[in-house]
Amino acid sequence: MKRIVLLGATGSIGRQAIEVIDGHPELELVAAASGSRSIDGVAPLTQVGGDLVELLERAEPDLVLNAVVGFAGLPATLWALEHGVDLALANKESLVAAGELALAAQRRGGGLLLPVDSEHSAAFQCLDGRASETVDSLVLTASGGPFRGRTREELHDVTPDEALAHPTWNMGPKITIDSATLANKGLELIEAHFLFGLSYERIEVVVHPTSVVHAFVRLRDGAALAHLGYPDMRVPISYALTYPERAATPIPSLDLASGLSLEFHAPDLETFPLLALARGAGEQGGTFPCVFNAANELAVAAFLEGRLPFLGIAEVVEETLAASDGASARDLDDLVEADASARELAERTLAPA
Ligand code: MG
Repeated sequence: MKRIVLLGATGSIGRQAIEVIDGHPELELVAAASGSRSIDGVAPLTQVGGDLVELLERAEPDLVLNAVVGFAGLPATLWALEHGVDLALANKESLVAAGELALAAQRRGGGLLLPVDSEHSAAFQCLDGRASETVDSLVLTASGGPFRGRTREELHDVTPDEALAHPTWNMGPKITIDSATLANKGLELIEAHFLFGLSYERIEVVVHPTSVVHAFVRLRDGAALAHLGYPDMRVPISYALTYPERAATPIPSLDLASGLSLEFHAPDLETFPLLALARGAGEQGGTFPCVFNAANELAVAAFLEGRLPFLGIAEVVEETLAASDGASARDLDDLVEADASARELAERTLAPA
């Protein structure tokens, strides 16, 4: 039996994870936590709100699935890595904000860090066991979101409802807005840098509207390996929870006879500046990725509340990055401070609605 703790049980990933766990007798959900919604009866030990680290200590898991949204997931990520408990990571923001601290904690703890993000799960599988000198580059695919192909002028007045209508993936509101702005791919770029130890110039993003290819790895001999599958998060969730066994799922395999559209093109960095801003923050290092994430979280919330126009999200992030010093964090306290002061700066750049 693998003892699993699920953090973020009522979100999109959390609900699909429960489905995966229910389908596998060797997986035991020993504890679950949600931010605010009731989860009575989901697991022997449940918690709504409160300190996730306390729950983890009580539950003694073999594996933690961290599906919390945003920076709030960071203490749980660091706890699992520090304690050598395998971590299935859907909370990309924690690795973006705390990349170096997280990797240092993992080296001390010695547990597995298994990405649940579909692109990273795909890349992890393509890279599996390959010597790093044989790998030229990694390509992450992006659906382009609901506003793919639009110009900046066409995005001035878009509403939260329009931004929440994702063409291929069914996800929670924060990541869906991040997909519409391409901030999600920016976060994933930084996430990939830390997960796979690749410099930023070796990670490319391409737009691929049907979301069938999740990632490519280009090798030095000219070959490229791709990972394909219908867009369904139960695949990477199941892969991470049952690693290295790769258990069966009810997801249909690709139907090639009915046709498959594999189209790729470069992202429009002018219309969607958050991707380039994330790359810049990642390359600058220090706490710039943490600042990028904090400003983006705050701006997305403001957009959903109707306090900020869609194009304002990138402006808030850009101004906050420009006003931050990005000094490196020595520990979690430093990061919490960097996150808080970035949110303060971001809040100040928001014009009153
Ligand atoms: Mg993803």
